Amino acid sequence: MSYDMNNIFAKIIRGEIPSDKLYEDEHVLAFKDIRPQAKVHVLIIPKGPYVSAQDFSEKASDAELAAMHRAIGKVAKAVGVAVTGYRVIANTGADGRQEVPHYHIHILGGQNMGRMVALD
Ligand code: AMP
Repeated sequence: MSYDMNNIFAKIIRGEIPSDKLYEDEHVLAFKDIRPQAKVHVLIIPKGPYVSAQDFSEKASDAELAAMHRAIGKVAKAVGVAVTGYRVIANTGADGRQEVPHYHIHILGGQNMGRMVALD
């Protein structure tokens, strides 16, 4: 799948639409999910044009890969869930029900997150 330069997260990175930004560095941006599914729901995205976790895993530089994982801990601390815990999700492709075709990690917490998976 080729990268769609007009996906919603590409527009957020370019500053064309607003986001509730929580963290940013050279490689990564984190902002609140617009339709939160938990008391804390944050998205972490790479600034580079990667479609999915699979694409990012295959093509990102070591610096980008490290920045994404480091951001998890930094964002969790910033939003107050580092000690209480949280869930990290990267929906990937069709079976993963990924909606936005720009790689992103969900950080969900601020409450007990229940069972890991519910199939519908
Ligand atoms: P996924 O199903 O993993 O692709 O999740 C996409 C997520 O992006 C959903 O949780 C949406 O609520 C979220 N989302 C879509 N548009 C925006 C936006 N403009 N700002 C913040 N989050 C968004």
